[in-house]
Amino acid sequence: MLIDTHAHLDFPDYEPDREQVLQRASDAGIQYIITVGTDLASSKKSCELSQSYPQIYASIGIHPHEVKELGPDPSDIYDVLKGLVRQGKGKVIAWGEAGLDYYRDYSPREVQEREFRHQVRIAQELDLPLIIHARQAHDEVLKILNEEAGPRLRGVFHCFSGDERIAKEVLGLGFYISLAGPLTYPNSHKLQRLAKILPTDRLLLETDAPFLTPQPRRGKRNEPAFVTYAADKLAEIKGLSSRDIARITSLNASLLFGIGGKDKTAKIVYQIRKSLYLNLTNRCTNNCCFCVRNDTTYVKGHNLKLSQEPSIEELWQATTAEDPGRYQEVVFCGLGEPTLRLEVIKEIARRLKTRGIRVRLNTNGQGNLIHARNILPELEGLIDAISVSLNAEDKEKYYHLCHPIFGLDTYDQVKEFIRGAKRYIPQVGVTVLDMPWEIDLSKCQEIAEKELGVSFRIREYNILG
Ligand code: SF4
Repeated sequence: MLIDTHAHLDFPDYEPDREQVLQRASDAGIQYIITVGTDLASSKKSCELSQSYPQIYASIGIHPHEVKELGPDPSDIYDVLKGLVRQGKGKVIAWGEAGLDYYRDYSPREVQEREFRHQVRIAQELDLPLIIHARQAHDEVLKILNEEAGPRLRGVFHCFSGDERIAKEVLGLGFYISLAGPLTYPNSHKLQRLAKILPTDRLLLETDAPFLTPQPRRGKRNEPAFVTYAADKLAEIKGLSSRDIARITSLNASLLFGIGGKDKTAKIVYQIRKSLYLNLTNRCTNNCCFCVRNDTTYVKGHNLKLSQEPSIEELWQATTAEDPGRYQEVVFCGLGEPTLRLEVIKEIARRLKTRGIRVRLNTNGQGNLIHARNILPELEGLIDAISVSLNAEDKEKYYHLCHPIFGLDTYDQVKEFIRGAKRYIPQVGVTVLDMPWEIDLSKCQEIAEKELGVSFRIREYNILG
């Protein structure tokens, strides 16, 4: 499932074959399309389409190119637009596209700024997310958003063209960033580099159809079915599967626009890339300040909030239903510390190993403290690889960041666990989070590689899996 969060299906380009366009979108797995108004007529048409097709939602507003037509007192026009929201039966789910365009400058800048400010206020009054158009005017857009920000301000910068500094400010304001066809262009190196470092849980996908046709179809009219090209490119950039990207960006769109509905079913097995993950527990012996659990129960679009811990048989049933032999590996992970359920790990791993499946354990390295014995010999022959979160260069820092229930000396015990693991597990690695402002990454690397003699990897901040 994918959501094209920005298309202009009301445009005359689609009059001859709109039904076929929608059918191709459906065939390509596009579940919902947001059609975005650019002026009063376009907004009205977008609303009509949203009433005619269950898969279409509408956004309404006045594009910066069009604000020059509003005249000195556009309150009547805004009143009509507000009426469209009331009459929209829940299908008008955003305000925009509104913003500033200093690249084309089709409207005088003072009019653009006045009417953007006006629309930011209306979106908040109506409690709707904003769809922002910003072109060569990101600082000015951010200034107005900051000045007008209230508790209901939220939205997305569509077809993002800013740099890393701007992206940080956009994310800091709580906005999403939407990527479109330009991501697929061969010379879009800057955008692709930026996409690599942007957090996946704040990204949306769009076509901006009929504009910005992705590379494989360039030169032709764009349409919602082609959002798959941006999804595939983003998956390649992020080292994820297209399915991962579809799930994650659809969840993001659902959270921002309230469409599609979140998958509320807790997953006890879930896939990321080519691995199958098992969610054993939500309990943990740490309470890390950076843990994703502090903000969400979703990891890469999967809901991992368990109502109760799965039994061995429940896990095994869910695992075999996924045909684990199809995956590169099965990983004990989840939204908690898996070694709290050591007996489950051992039994499931034993069954997987009889099928010749590679097994990895992601752990905070406190298994020996949890069970008050050396558990590593019990994992020999069952676990092929173990990945331990080190997360700090010394015990004081570890204690400060992770708040382990076992106290200040936990860090030393985690290191001891890593040393011991080398005797029983073929592949041992440690990870730290990419938080250079907090963690001395090179010192951690030295500890991993020189002191402990294991591999070292930096994990993306605020990301599990
Ligand atoms: S060890 Fe992992 S699951 Fe536990 S609190 Fe820290 S980040 Fe969260």
